[in-house]
Amino acid sequence: MSGPSRRGILVSTVTLAAGLTLSRASDLLAQELKPTPECRDGDEPTLRQTEGPFFKPRSPQRSDLREPGAPRPIALSGTVLTRRCRPVPGALVDLWHSDESGDYDNTGFRYRGHQFADAEGRFSFRTIVPAEYPGRTRHYHVKVQAPRGRVLTTQLYFPGEAGNARDFLFKRELLMRTAQGPDGLAARFDFVLDMR
Ligand code: FE
Repeated sequence: MSGPSRRGILVSTVTLAAGLTLSRASDLLAQELKPTPECRDGDEPTLRQTEGPFFKPRSPQRSDLREPGAPRPIALSGTVLTRRCRPVPGALVDLWHSDESGDYDNTGFRYRGHQFADAEGRFSFRTIVPAEYPGRTRHYHVKVQAPRGRVLTTQLYFPGEAGNARDFLFKRELLMRTAQGPDGLAARFDFVLDMR
């Protein structure tokens, strides 16, 4: 009989359990939050929004954007899907946002990074809740692209922000789902790319 031995399975289960430290609790929480939107066959693709003036190409490939001593940690995760709700493995997810003072780093790459979705189309960033800046409610900027696909540029918003109603770009459809976890906020957003 081939396949993994019972002992091998046991060892990998123990390793997995040990890996689930408290610092990962908000990542798990983010994955457990209800999908945004609940994907149905033929779903509308995620709305496009302007990239704004602060996008920089060639951000570092990384999932943890936190700076030492950074306030208001958040785990932002989700899935990249097609309009038929199929995951998009290897999709590029490029994130950039303002810092705790509402400023963008335009010389370096603070609070900028990209990653590629896993085999189930999932991505996960650890970063901070950005500050508002004049004229804008709290938001993230993101570009999402299937391998060899068209780039989706959009923005994500926080529920319950007073600034949402005053922001000329704000869209309800781009609200993340959020929940308070033991080590910070957890947020989820699922992207639907315009492909079958
Ligand atoms: Fe912005």
